[in-house]
Amino acid sequence: MSFDIIKGMATTLKNMGRKPTTVSFPEQERELPPRFRGRHVLHRYENGLERCVACYLCAGACPADVIYIEAEENTAEHRISPGERYARVFDMNLLRCIFCGYCQAACPTGAITLEHDYKLACFSPEEMIYHKEQLLEPLGQATVGTNADWYEPPLPDAAQPVPQESHVFDGFEASAASVGMGDLPTEQPVLLVNEEQDEDRRKLAGEQDGQHV
Ligand code: SF4
Ligand code: SF4
Repeated sequence: MSFDIIKGMATTLKNMGRKPTTVSFPEQERELPPRFRGRHVLHRYENGLERCVACYLCAGACPADVIYIEAEENTAEHRISPGERYARVFDMNLLRCIFCGYCQAACPTGAITLEHDYKLACFSPEEMIYHKEQLLEPLGQATVGTNADWYEPPLPDAAQPVPQESHVFDGFEASAASVGMGDLPTEQPVLLVNEEQDEDRRKLAGEQDGQHV
């Protein structure tokens, strides 16, 4: 008996008593990590409105050109989402998808998440094009999906990047939009009512002006 056969037999004997690392799929399934990225789901709010406002950010962020959206205006009589628009068509060609999760990260309303459905085998390529009706949560269901696992809430004592609590507008357009005051005129500088901070900012502005002269 050659040495290679003895070595092979030894390996077999060594592993005979070990617990198998495989599972008998589909009878048995592995427990998936919470942040596993499987098939996408479109979410609703608790009042039944769709979270998706057809902003196209997910389609823009997608590196594989998976997402096709057609937007339509909401009206008072026919309101589908809380925004100006909703997605009349929301198709995903999952044959192209690389399950990177960029679409989930780009979505400002938490409308799209990658969930734990990975059994996507099918008999024809057309079946891999998922339509909104297949992706959307049924009426009566309103979950946030894996966003709950991806986005941890900030610590209670974490500094707020914008004055969300006080609603004080500091003159910056970004802050204005964040506190819902995007319509305020920004031509005139509006400084915080804080002498020390105002003084610092004026100095800084003066220095910057000096540099540009
Ligand atoms: S997971 Fe990545 S590739 Fe798939 S649709 Fe989202 S952004 Fe595109
Ligand atoms: S899923 Fe999110 S990012 Fe994509 S269009 Fe809808 S709201 Fe915008």
